[in-house]
Order: sequence, then structure tokens, then C-alpha cells
Amino acid sequence: MTILYNTSLKSYNTFGIDVSAKYFATIDTLISIQEIIRTKEYQSNERLILGGGSNILFTKNVDALVLKNNLKGIELIHENEDTVLVKCAAGEVWHQFVMWCIDKNYGGLENLSLIPGCVGASPMQNIGAYGVEIKDTFYELEAIHTSTGETRTFNKFECEFGYRESIFKRKLKNQYLITSVTFQLLKKQHYNIEYGAIKQELDVMNVSELSLKTISQAVINIRNSKLPNPNEIGNAGSFFKNPEVSQKIYETLKTNFSNIVAYPLDNSNYKLAAGWLIEQCGLKGFRKGEAGVHQKQALVLVNYGSATGNEIYDLSSYILESVKLKFGVDLEREVNIF
Ligand code: FAD
Ligand code: NAP
Repeated sequence: MTILYNTSLKSYNTFGIDVSAKYFATIDTLISIQEIIRTKEYQSNERLILGGGSNILFTKNVDALVLKNNLKGIELIHENEDTVLVKCAAGEVWHQFVMWCIDKNYGGLENLSLIPGCVGASPMQNIGAYGVEIKDTFYELEAIHTSTGETRTFNKFECEFGYRESIFKRKLKNQYLITSVTFQLLKKQHYNIEYGAIKQELDVMNVSELSLKTISQAVINIRNSKLPNPNEIGNAGSFFKNPEVSQKIYETLKTNFSNIVAYPLDNSNYKLAAGWLIEQCGLKGFRKGEAGVHQKQALVLVNYGSATGNEIYDLSSYILESVKLKFGVDLEREVNIF
């Protein structure tokens, strides 16, 4: 296996931040992972696993062994009358995997069309969009411990999925390299179009009969109309999570800001639209040097060209402070900071 030294990560992160990795290896077999993990020379180095780099902000050079996941392969491992189990290698591109499932008429992932990145990172933050999260179809994943090389299977319960959360983003951060994810998908379709924008887009498209393809296309159309394409302008999607607050806090906020955008989560908590909070601070489209807040979606921070990771991070801190000052609400960063 080839190890590169002090190699630039600029083309490996969608923010386009120019930092370097002390050691960098592309892994495309399970054997090569074991080999590199057990190589004495790298044993004392920290490890950083990289998929598509679409949920990462680099703020400094990476003093670690970066493992770029390139494991490939999709396999149907079980089938009954109603469902299939599909095992997908972690280095497959997420959107291509979703398209593969739709082509086979396996339902469950269509609302998650066009999310950048690789399949291996999807459990990391339980990726979600348009009313669906991967935990809804997740069956199990396989992973390798990044120091010992031990292989382990995690079921849904063990992944401790939450809202843009999992055990891999918290307790087990950087400890396991996910090598494959298995999904349980539906052969008899159950469409989820409750998320308002999907229904509106299906109307615009003049769809008379729902299918996995039309729902996916509606999602693709909406996303293309409002989200910046990382190939054109550096970004990592939503920089912050939508904060959850108690009903009491929500009611106080509603008294002071009658048009606040919020969604009930259960009987006692509300999810606030972080994009709305940022917009109300007058920060939608705000720009400081080469770092900015996207013009169409205030949750997305962008690199206009040569911003450093620290400039983007500082902008995110300014946003956190502004929202706290105006609403008394703490935002939390969703993007992984290194
Ligand atoms: P990376 O950025 O490479 O890695 C993210 C984290 O996961 C890092 O901590 C990394 O170390 C770790 N990691 C990566 N691969 C592995 C592995 N195999 N094993 C263990 N750890 C690993 N996210 C959503 O949830 N919903 C959206 O709708 C959405 N839309 C987006 C739109 C845009 C335009 C962009 C740029 C991003 C969007 N994202 C969204 C965020 C991002 O695409 C997802 O979080 C995606 O799953 C990240 O995948 P990646 O392969 O790029 O991960
Ligand atoms: P949007 O439709 O403008 O909605 C704004 C926010 O309100 C979203 O964050 C969403 O929360 C929430 N929301 C809207 N309708 C809802 C409903 N019916 N029930 C519950 N919550 C509702 O959002 P957008 O920015 O265009 O994004 C659309 C979808 O793609 C969202 O699900 C969003 O999470 C996802 N997305 C994620 C990223 C990322 O990087 N994480 C980037 C782009 C888009 P939720 O976020 O909880 O769904």
C-alpha cells in the first residue's frame, strides 16, 4: 500500500480547505486496513477516517494517519416477500447507492437522494433529510477498531442513533472504521411525502402516480434549487443542528417572536429552525473576507475561495454568539471540526 507524506487535503474536503496530512493512505481492501493498522511505524499516530469530506472542517494541518475509505461493492444478502437486506461497502458514494436501490425498486432511501459523501459516514450522524433518517432502514454495520484491528458488528441499538448523532460521533469517535452498512429496504412501497416541500414539488412536476423515482427526483429538484453545489462553492451543508428546546422556552420565544419557525418533537419539546434564527440576526448572506453565510440558506457556511478553516470557524462562533444574544438559544455545530 502506498503511504503519502505531507499530502494536501484540499481536494478531499468539500469546504476546499488547504491543509496537509502527515500520512495519507487510500484503503480499498479489508486486508489493507488490517495491514496498515498493524504497521509499527504508524501505531502511535492518531487516525482520521475520511469519506467524501463533506461534513468536515479542517482548522489545522492533520498530524495523523488519514485513511481515505475506498471500499466498494453492493450485495443483496437476504430477501423475503416484503423486504430485502442490502449490504453496501463504506466507500460507495451515497447518492449512487440510493440510485442503485431505486433502480431495483427497493424503497426507504429515496428521500435521502443527493446527500453528498460516502455510505460509511451515513451512520456517523444518522444522516437525515425530508422527514427520513437512516436509522429508519438501518439494519447493522461492520467496523474495524482503528488501533487493535478487531472487527465488530453493531446493531441499531448499539449505534445509539439520535438527531444527527450516533455513538461514533461521541463515545467512539475515531475508534472504529466503518467498513460496510446493511439496510433493510421495502419491496412494497410506503412513501413518505409528509415534508411540505416534497408535496409542492410533486405538484409542480405534475406527478400523477407516486414512485420511488418521482419522489427522489422531487428531492433532487428542491435540493438543487436551494443548496450550494460544493463543486462550485465550498461548503459542508448545514453547519449547525436545529436546537431542541422545552415547551416552556418555546412559549416564551413565541411571545417575543410571534413568527418563530418551530416543530413539535413530542409533548414537551420543540425543534427550532436554526436557519431562521440566524436569518433573524441579519446574517443570511453575511460575508467576512472569504468566509460567508449562504445567500439562500443561512444554515450553510461557505468558502468563497481562499478562506482558512479558522476563518470559517470564527464566523461560526460569531453566529453562535449572535443567536445566543438575540434568542438566548445555544446552537451546536453539526460539522466535525479537526
Ligand atoms: P466525511 O466528511 O468524510 O466524514 C464525516 C465524519 O465521519 C468524520 O468525523 C469522519 O472521520 C467520519 N467517517 C467518515 N467515514 C467513516 C467511516 N467509514 N468509518 C468511521 N468514520 C467515518 N447531511 C445530512 O445528514 N443530511 C443532509 O441532507 C445533508 N445535506 C448536505 C448537503 C451538502 C451540499 C453538503 C456539502 C453536505 C450535506 N450533509 C448532509 C452533510 C454530509 O454530506 C453527510 O454528513 C455525509 O454523510 C458525510 O459523508 P462523508 O463521506 O463526506 O463524510
Ligand atoms: P427547510 O425545508 O427549509 O426546513 C427548515 C428546517 O425546518 C429544516 O431544518 C427541518 O428540520 C425543519 N422542517 C421543515 N419541515 C418540517 C416538517 N414538516 N417537520 C419537521 N421539521 C421540518 O430545510 P432545508 O434547509 O431546505 O433542508 C431540507 C432537508 O434537507 C432538511 O431535512 C434538512 O435537514 C436536510 N439538509 C441537511 C443538511 C445537512 O448538512 N445536515 C444540508 C441540507 C439539507 P430537519 O433538518 O430536522 O429536517
